Amino acid sequence: MNLTDIRTIKDIMSIYNIHFRKEFGQNFLTNISVVEDIADSCSDTPEATVLEIGPGIGVLTQELAFRYRKVIAVEIDNGLIPVLRYTLQDCPEGVVDVVHADVMKVDLRELLRPAFEAGKVSVCANLPYYITTPILMALLESGLPFEYITIMIQSEVADRLCANAGSKEYGAITAVLKYYGEAQKLFKVSAGNFIPAPKVDSTVVRIKLHKEKPYVPKDEETLFRTIRAAFEQRRKTLPNALSAGFSEIPKDTLTAIIEECGHRPDIRGERLDIRDFVALADRIFDEKQG
Ligand code: SAM
Repeated sequence: MNLTDIRTIKDIMSIYNIHFRKEFGQNFLTNISVVEDIADSCSDTPEATVLEIGPGIGVLTQELAFRYRKVIAVEIDNGLIPVLRYTLQDCPEGVVDVVHADVMKVDLRELLRPAFEAGKVSVCANLPYYITTPILMALLESGLPFEYITIMIQSEVADRLCANAGSKEYGAITAVLKYYGEAQKLFKVSAGNFIPAPKVDSTVVRIKLHKEKPYVPKDEETLFRTIRAAFEQRRKTLPNALSAGFSEIPKDTLTAIIEECGHRPDIRGERLDIRDFVALADRIFDEKQG
């Protein structure tokens, strides 16, 4: 079944009496080579399991099913569940499991336990724009050892995820992401490749998760708090930004810590890379411990 064909998509939607649901960010892909390229990039091995978030009518799911050992597709919209049963009927038997759930509420560790026991697990998603960051953060913070996370997201967000320290796109999410893995932009997908066409262009980003984190903080919570504080008051110098975020530590002490870490006191947080943040957070943690 050619699920990138606009006529086919419209026929399916009319037969099942469903509509594109804006509240779920439904923009379906209509370009087969884009779909194939995304599916190809999900794992290095056909033995992998792919967790697909938001299969829609199954266009990517189908391609994943012919490439990988197992596909677990989590879809929030119950109207799409019978559609998926129909559109995925020609996939290799037993490969695709469709799960009707909100990926933000599902217990991923439990859902993916057999998959992790069997081998590598990757994530693939053409993500709804409104929930990109929360889903990405939930995946990273789950601590699950995914091989890759391949996501299609708004190009502007992709620029932010892949930015270097010091650039204007660099933000808290960039620094946090660097803690978990390495993000790489694979290719751009213009708005005309979707139905309905979104207002913005998209970019496919692949995150390779660190097997061993290169920089390990003494306390993760202090690290995330340090990063958040540094970017919350972006225009402020680092001592000012940190003293707003760590009101329990005197500003002079924070300034001294920043200098001990080798930075000038008028530096701004956006110049610090993840290694700098871990070193800074460790010193702040020591200070809090007394
Ligand atoms: N994968 C299809 C494609 O590429 O054409 C559909 C992508 S569409 C941009 C996003 C899909 O994610 C929709 O099917 C939507 O219903 C689903 N979705 C939105 N929020 C979700 C959530 N919290 N959990 C699971 N699926 C979700």
